[in-house]
Amino acid sequence: MHFGLTEEQEFFRTAVSDTVERMIMPHVEKIDETDEFPTELWKEFTALGYLGLRYPEELGGMAADPVTAMIFYEEIARGSVGFAQAVIMNTLMGTHFLYRFGSPEIKERCFMPAIRGEKIATICFTEDQSGSDVANTRTLAKKVEGGWVLNGTKNWITNGPIADVATVLATTDPALGMKGLNFFLVEKGTKGFSPGQTIHKIGARGPVTGELVFEDVFVPDENLLGAEAGRGAEYLGEILDEVRCMTGAMALGIARAAFDDALEYARKREAFGKPIGEYQLIRAKFADMATEMEASRLMVYQTAWMLGEGLPTRKIAAMTKMFATETCLKVVDEVTRIYGANGFAQEYGPQRYFRDARFLLYGGGTHEILRNFIGREIVVGR
Ligand SMILES: Cc1cc2nc3c(=O)[nH]c(=O)nc-3n(C[C@H](O)[C@H](O)[C@H](O)COP(=O)(O)OP(=O)(O)OC[C@H]3O[C@@H](n4cnc5c(N)ncnc54)[C@H](O)[C@@H]3O)c2cc1C
Repeated sequence: MHFGLTEEQEFFRTAVSDTVERMIMPHVEKIDETDEFPTELWKEFTALGYLGLRYPEELGGMAADPVTAMIFYEEIARGSVGFAQAVIMNTLMGTHFLYRFGSPEIKERCFMPAIRGEKIATICFTEDQSGSDVANTRTLAKKVEGGWVLNGTKNWITNGPIADVATVLATTDPALGMKGLNFFLVEKGTKGFSPGQTIHKIGARGPVTGELVFEDVFVPDENLLGAEAGRGAEYLGEILDEVRCMTGAMALGIARAAFDDALEYARKREAFGKPIGEYQLIRAKFADMATEMEASRLMVYQTAWMLGEGLPTRKIAAMTKMFATETCLKVVDEVTRIYGANGFAQEYGPQRYFRDARFLLYGGGTHEILRNFIGREIVVGR
């Protein structure tokens, strides 16, 4: 067994971490306060080429292995969760289907500009009546001469209102459930495609999140992203483990940021004549947080390694997402306690970690859905 990172991976972590400190950290509070997309920071950061992290070099990517990708997600979430959310959307789900199924023209026109940061990409599953229950998707794709006509409304779309390229889940026939689902590319400027209401989020602020509306939107045949109609759910299943592991890595990054702040605070803040970090009950909190974060770290990087080796990851990826997220939620809660009343103040970091961490609960599967899934795998098998 070998648990270490390679020299390149260690070097990569240092490079990303330094970039996060230098470029992103100075903007964290402003991004959270204004909840506006940080356009200048986006330009500066995306010029570094990280958005192409997991794609081949010949398309402008970095051809990084999954372990390296998780290092990136962990480090950037340690900086700003909101900004990380926007960056990771362009790095992973917003571009994955364009890369996998896009024609050479689509790759040239949409995919490559998206991994250069010149176009904002997004993925659209969620609708008012279908979040976890994607089989209940109602956005309809009707076959017509030369293409498809889409009608429906998507909700909770990260970067949706400002997206240039959207990968949209639609059904060709709601009665078919999972077997009717397909992904379509819809580009900004297409007739009938428009942003709807914006959502005001309590955390993970910065990316604009909201509705996207499709009214008789015509897309040509080549915008069906997949070999044939009806296989969308299968394609989604193929990327889900990576997405869940990524969420675990983000959870680890947020937990680390909160933990490090609390450690500094506990060493300085005095009560009853000595730093609070000298009291056993406070040390116990650090001991428990560090232990569970270590377990999260092992799970995230083991799963990433398994993804790279092409091993089955369905169950471990779900466990990783759930465990690392629950650990992160515990850590951010404990950190607000270590800060005392200052944990309740807008001026200090803990309230932001507390709000931001909750964002991890939803994407990649809620924990009720994941527990159902893991339990079924264990009890019934596949
Ligand atoms: C910040 C943020 C960004 C997002 N970005 C995107 C995006 O870019 N694109 C996108 O498509 N979506 C996005 N989403 C939406 C996200 O994918 C959904 O929130 C998620 O799929 C869960 O769906 P839901 O919120 O509708 O909850 P529901 O599915 O309505 O669930 C509500 C509750 O019921 C529980 N539940 C549901 N079914 C079961 C069951 N069978 N057994 C037990 N309990 C159950 C759930 O666990 C949950 O507790 C985003 C959400 C957030 C918060």
